[in-house]
Amino acid sequence: MIESYDLHCHSTASDGALTPTEVVQRAADFGVTALALTDHDTTAGLFEAQQQASLVGLRLIPGIELSTNWQNKCFHIVGLGIDPHYAPLANATQLLQSTRIERAEKIAFKLEQKRIPGALQAVMKAAGDGMITRSHFADFLLSQNHVSTQQEAFDRYLGQGKSAYVSTTWADLEVAINWITESGGVAVLAHPMRYKLTANWMNRLLTTFKEAGGQGLEVITSRMNPDELRRVTDYAKRFNLAGSVGSDFHNPENPWVELGRLPTLPSHIKPVWELLN
Ligand code: AMP
Ligand code: MN
Ligand code: MN
Ligand code: MN
Repeated sequence: MIESYDLHCHSTASDGALTPTEVVQRAADFGVTALALTDHDTTAGLFEAQQQASLVGLRLIPGIELSTNWQNKCFHIVGLGIDPHYAPLANATQLLQSTRIERAEKIAFKLEQKRIPGALQAVMKAAGDGMITRSHFADFLLSQNHVSTQQEAFDRYLGQGKSAYVSTTWADLEVAINWITESGGVAVLAHPMRYKLTANWMNRLLTTFKEAGGQGLEVITSRMNPDELRRVTDYAKRFNLAGSVGSDFHNPENPWVELGRLPTLPSHIKPVWELLN
């Protein structure tokens, strides 16, 4: 059988629109044979996802997308093949949930100062038991007609340096890599081209990432142009990192991002799934 991998996506456990069951079902419908559910800072969707994966005969790789800090910047580290019961990782997700609630309160306060009331209640309701993210705030701003697109919500209110932006202390990058590897997983730098780093910063980041035990680079993600693919492939080669493939799917409304609908990994890049057992 030809395997089709998608190793980065979200469910209602964080800022995805579909339940873990629905994500797994949709992945199977789109021909994905191995899926990693990688919700922001939580593993809460994995149990349900595994139930559905067993039903439809899909291989579920337990995953997470950790928000981390290095050099006062934020980087997303995807953990693949993690053990969600590994205590330091489980404790970290608890702490990150509190961090996200406190941040949400501060964002809502800033919005109130901009004469936009009711955000906290709305995002708490929308997130339910899941992690509260800026996407929930974007949806709220959209629903209240303060913006006309999600992107505009980030550009005007939620993006770095904008009026409702709250700078947050996440997990330390090297510590987060440790949680992943010590739990038996593989650490992958998510969407490396989205940070808009200079070559110098990218080299420094990947040096630190490797030294801390990072093993993979998300070489294939949605909406990359040929130049980005060339550069990220080059970094994977130079730093001897395995290549991952992940759509970063959040919802069925985005026509540019779909589960499993991704270019194939360049053949000279070692696939990250060869590191998963
Ligand atoms: P958070 O982790 O709470 O800061 O939220 C980050 C999430 O917001 C990302 O995972 C994306 O899903 C979404 N996001 C970030 N920047 C943008 C943007 N410019 N436009 C739309 N969604 C974004
Ligand atoms: Mn997200
Ligand atoms: Mn991300
Ligand atoms: Mn993601």
